[in-house]
Amino acid sequence: MWPSSWGSASLRESSVRVYISVDMEGVAGVVHESQTDPSTPAFAAEYGRFRRLMTAEANAAVDGALAAGATKVVVNDSHWFMRNLLAEELNPAAELLSGDPKPRSMVEGIDGGFDTALFIGYHARGRPVGELGINAALAGVSGVPVALVSGDSGLAAEAKELLGDHVATVVVKQAVSRHAAKSVAPVVACRMIREGVIQALQRPHQPLVLSPPVTVEVDFAMTIHADMAELCPGARRTGGRTVAFTHGDYREVFRGWRAMLSLSA
Ligand SMILES: [Zn+2]
Repeated sequence: MWPSSWGSASLRESSVRVYISVDMEGVAGVVHESQTDPSTPAFAAEYGRFRRLMTAEANAAVDGALAAGATKVVVNDSHWFMRNLLAEELNPAAELLSGDPKPRSMVEGIDGGFDTALFIGYHARGRPVGELGINAALAGVSGVPVALVSGDSGLAAEAKELLGDHVATVVVKQAVSRHAAKSVAPVVACRMIREGVIQALQRPHQPLVLSPPVTVEVDFAMTIHADMAELCPGARRTGGRTVAFTHGDYREVFRGWRAMLSLSA
């Protein structure tokens, strides 16, 4: 649980540049693809509701960062076509990075000189490859620690295991089944995120640094996907539906992962 009030936050003397990556599956209230799928006309009304809730959680993180003394805030829309956040409703103190493709996807621009990163609306891994770890490791290459992640209860456990006890986690919902969850109200989620960010930015955090060489292994849904991903230079077929990529430089591992996903799409 989080206290309802932290009192006034102390401002930092040095500039604090905050990078915020916002996904949608881990937003409070989201339980089904009809709420997060921007490509299906039949889902338009539901999707329209939930992109507004996604924007509200992004704003909660921006507000928390500003209250903790942030001097620069960039928000990266990190879901699907990456055009979900409502620009006109986003806190004008933040810059919005929107649209796709972006070479570094959910962490595009993380190498642009940031002190800390926040991952909002993230979700627990459904496969051996977890987006949280892949993105946190790329932030780590630039020396940027992840200070806070918000999302479901499974994500919180994954974040602690991967990033260590220093990372703050905000749990906005408990998974019940694949398409069901018990969630706090959206306004409560926003308050928890804002207060969690203020608190997290008062503490030091460690970047995730993976010792080389690093291997990423992608387990595809179908063998035809693995057939295509295997065309990526340096890729190795390690199973019927599995392709691996190893490199000493994690930035190349990330590029290999992105290339494999794009080839298989
Ligand atoms: Zn997403």
